[in-house]
Amino acid sequence: MPPTRQRRIAMMGYRSVGKTSLVLRFVTCKFDEGYDPTIENTYTKSVNVAGQVYQLQVIDTAGQDEYSVTPNDYYMNVDGYILVYSITSQRSLDIIKLIYDKISDMKGKIWVPIVLVGNKTDLEEDRAVTMEDGKKLADEWNIPFLEVSAKTDESVEEVFAQLIKAIQRRETVKDKNCLVS
Ligand code: GDP
Ligand code: MG
Repeated sequence: MPPTRQRRIAMMGYRSVGKTSLVLRFVTCKFDEGYDPTIENTYTKSVNVAGQVYQLQVIDTAGQDEYSVTPNDYYMNVDGYILVYSITSQRSLDIIKLIYDKISDMKGKIWVPIVLVGNKTDLEEDRAVTMEDGKKLADEWNIPFLEVSAKTDESVEEVFAQLIKAIQRRETVKDKNCLVS
């Protein structure tokens, strides 16, 4: 068995989109209505991906908006990002674009593992963002895209699995670069 790898990932997005709900659904397999929106916390969970155990540290940020696209420390020592919007809020998707630009600026030309997530699919009657809109953005950025629900547990595990795969791909590329240079 190869040694456990530790990886840090950050949940980013506008307030109330369900960042905390998604992390807690993933880590504790539960959904509660209402978490303190100001609390920032780091959660830990081990997952096994094709025989490789990853200990994930998930940083649940308090959220971003156009005035606080984010303190720089979220961009440090993070192996991948989960960008969350709510399918019930166009504004939350607009904020994602600002966060994405900021991540790209900080990382320069380096490819960063990111997954785009549209949460709250159980609220179909309140939908304000079409699936095509989310997909289009993710295709433009060349990153995985999923619509999910923290409430019904639709595709939540898949979000983290996709991010780990992207992190693995990133590391393979890095290793290759080391070999040729
Ligand atoms: P955060 O501010 O992004 O961390 O969002 P929270 O996780 O605190 O969730 C904000 C609100 O949206 C809370 O009332 C949650 O119960 C609710 N919420 C989160 N995810 C879902 C979801 O998938 N479906 C529904 N219906 N409500 C959700
Ligand atoms: Mg929260």
